[in-house]
Amino acid sequence: MSIIEFARKKSPWVLHVNAGGCNGCNLELLSCLTPRYDVSRFGVYNTDNPKHADVMIVIGPVTLKYKEIITNLYNQMPDPKVVMAVGTCTCTGGIYQGCYGHCGALDQVLPVDVYVPGCNVRPEAIIDGLVLALDMLNEKERKILEDKKAKAKGVA
Ligand code: SF4
Repeated sequence: MSIIEFARKKSPWVLHVNAGGCNGCNLELLSCLTPRYDVSRFGVYNTDNPKHADVMIVIGPVTLKYKEIITNLYNQMPDPKVVMAVGTCTCTGGIYQGCYGHCGALDQVLPVDVYVPGCNVRPEAIIDGLVLALDMLNEKERKILEDKKAKAKGVA
């Protein structure tokens, strides 16, 4: 395990994005930060800056007005990055499916790595999803390093 992989696994930085749900899952996510669930004991840090984030947690189906903003946020995150869709309406469109003001499921807008369904979703499920997201993040990091090594060998 590289030092970067170790550090990231011990302290993933998370960008929380509310893209237009009913706010139910939003409250569940916020409860993950309270002393009862306390994700910060795993080193999880909630950042406001996409340039510092490893994991994007999206709640709610993306509204048409928010599509450009969320794409912009995603593009600002450095590689490797992981996107987590939290809540049934984020994973599938849920009760907002077919609604004129929404894009539907999050994967219509961004590449989603981890799906955490539930309406509303439980904090334990969000923590489970985060653990999965960390594994995927490290997997992506390894792939990037392998590609770099292969490229360097090709040039030499
Ligand atoms: S999944 Fe359900 S509870 Fe969560 S934001 Fe969507 S509608 Fe609200």
